[in-house]
Amino acid sequence: MTSTVNHDSIVCHARSINDRDAFWAEQARLVDWETPPQTVCDDSRLPFAHWFKGGTTNLCHNAVDRHVAARGDQDALVWISTEVNETRRYSYAQLQQEVMTTAAMLRSMGVQRGDRVLIYMPMVPEAAFAMLACARIGAIHSVVFGGFAAQALATRIEDAEPRVIVSCDAGMRGGRSIPYRPLLAQALSLSRHVPEAVLDLDRGLASDADTGLTGWPASSPRHDFAALRAQHLQAQVPVTWLESGEPSYILYTSGTTGKPKGVQRDTGGYAVALASSMRLVYNTQPGERMFTTSDIGWVVGHSYIIYGPLINGMTTVMYEGTPLQPDPGIWWRICEQERISTMFSAPTAIRVLRKTGTDPIKACDLSRLRQVFCAGEPMDETSHDWLQQALGIPVIDHYWQTETGWPMLSLLTGVEPPKVQLGSPGLPVYGFDVRLFRDDGTEAGPGEKAIVGVVPPLPPGCLSTLWRDDKRFVDTYFSLFSDRLVYSSFDWGIRDADGYYRILGRTDDVINVAGHRLGTREIEECLLSHPDVAEVAVVGLTDALKGQVPVATVVPKGHVLQGSPEERAALQSRLQQHVRERLGSIAHIQNVYVLGGLPKTRSGKVLRRAIGAVLEGRPTGDLTTLEDATPLTQLQEQMLPR
Ligand code: ATP
Ligand code: MG
Repeated sequence: MTSTVNHDSIVCHARSINDRDAFWAEQARLVDWETPPQTVCDDSRLPFAHWFKGGTTNLCHNAVDRHVAARGDQDALVWISTEVNETRRYSYAQLQQEVMTTAAMLRSMGVQRGDRVLIYMPMVPEAAFAMLACARIGAIHSVVFGGFAAQALATRIEDAEPRVIVSCDAGMRGGRSIPYRPLLAQALSLSRHVPEAVLDLDRGLASDADTGLTGWPASSPRHDFAALRAQHLQAQVPVTWLESGEPSYILYTSGTTGKPKGVQRDTGGYAVALASSMRLVYNTQPGERMFTTSDIGWVVGHSYIIYGPLINGMTTVMYEGTPLQPDPGIWWRICEQERISTMFSAPTAIRVLRKTGTDPIKACDLSRLRQVFCAGEPMDETSHDWLQQALGIPVIDHYWQTETGWPMLSLLTGVEPPKVQLGSPGLPVYGFDVRLFRDDGTEAGPGEKAIVGVVPPLPPGCLSTLWRDDKRFVDTYFSLFSDRLVYSSFDWGIRDADGYYRILGRTDDVINVAGHRLGTREIEECLLSHPDVAEVAVVGLTDALKGQVPVATVVPKGHVLQGSPEERAALQSRLQQHVRERLGSIAHIQNVYVLGGLPKTRSGKVLRRAIGAVLEGRPTGDLTTLEDATPLTQLQEQMLPR
């Protein structure tokens, strides 16, 4: 068995825990400091940790300025939009000027160190400039995903209390114009906090009927982006050096389980964690090119579209568009044309692409592509194998959270060649003292399902607290046990004898059938291996006899959705039998509902709690993160005759 173990990764991890300060002092050299840190980690107030205390640095300097001398002409940011059919390239020198210009614009609007700037933007380069500009002048950005509606935006405005909001007239998705300005105007009217001004990029995409200009609140005047930019084209704005622990940004979690939490990130620890992860986790080199298919509204976008690749002197591709338009080959053509060597995507996107087959992949020269990383949801083996075989390179599942800011379980491709273990996001990443805990606080052994926890301090780059709510930070993440500080991931996992973890689902989603605990993932994965199934979500419903029983909502391949009740019943029994044969009668699926799509958050995660609520006739709770309500309506319709 030992031949399947990644030895050097384990050695690296052990060193990071046993010789913590020496390990991180070494990693800290990957970053430029104005003043070197005095203390590697002040852990005197756990669970709070102050990494690289006394050091002063700047994220924008590390991501942009320090590369200009050696790589001024190299592409730093390539923006590709299949929505407005445009590509723009910014070299490091150009990026530096754009960022200084945007920094001067923000300053002219009154933004100072420590002020919050909320960025509500689609995937456009100006959004990246605004993020880096904030970092440059020590303002704290809070990017809110551009797909959020007024109420969700208003909640975040109230919590972050931004001095200025950066936004635009409209975005585009799948060829449709998505108005931003009217949503922002509405959010401003809902919010108790009033920002002083709005920096408004006019993309010329708003329809005449919906410019959002009528009824704009006078209390937050609009400043036109282009007009203000013209005044600051040559601006020189020096970086503001920040103490390592000063906040760099606030980012709200995806809200899959409920009210989003304002994750606060530091400056120095984050810079070091990202610089280090680009080398050791992702095995990327300066000058290489990376394509991360996420959105700047999510943590993956913060860490691996913007800061990580730039800190490492790479070229990053920022894509505005969907994976399917103009056709399902678009991502692979981007990889070919942009000579991408590392790609980062999400299982949900891979499942969507799998439905369209391998032809789009075969049509491209992907000889430079070395590796694809995936995170965000459990990666099912069927989709993983499909992609790995089609590309002929490692597809690496890795696991992390908004809270951690960078991977917590992964294979370290920069430490040794990955030995991919199917169904597993790998080993604990250095710095994370990951353990599995039973309900009573004792540690679980190999093969035992338990809660995934981390013994503090959390490594550099993780959340330093929740925005203005230290108490909620401690209460939310560290109160699993009364006698021991443990960070709870709220995920449920299992570890094999070689130390490889497998995430079984969120603790909320675990199903308890007659005293046996089943992760939703186990059953979902089993169903996904059935040829009739394209997507699936399993939830547990209350049952008088067994406690809970699993029920599946399935998106079938082919035409069963429009099919007769008999066809659906036949599919149900095929799937029930499939699960019974593989997982045993304990996992017997009580009901299979056939849907056209699954209810997902805007970040593409399945909202199991909403499915469960609908099926049990309970209130669905906070649905502001729901992408499309159609699947829930379809589900309700199917329940009616029962
Ligand atoms: P909220 O915390 O607001 O409910 P969220 O947990 O969906 O939202 P994120 O931080 O975006 O917000 O997602 C992190 C979660 O995604 C993890 O806790 C885990 O449940 C899931 N996840 C991420 N990567 C993986 C992976 N490789 N395998 C399994 N699950 C994963
Ligand atoms: Mg979470």
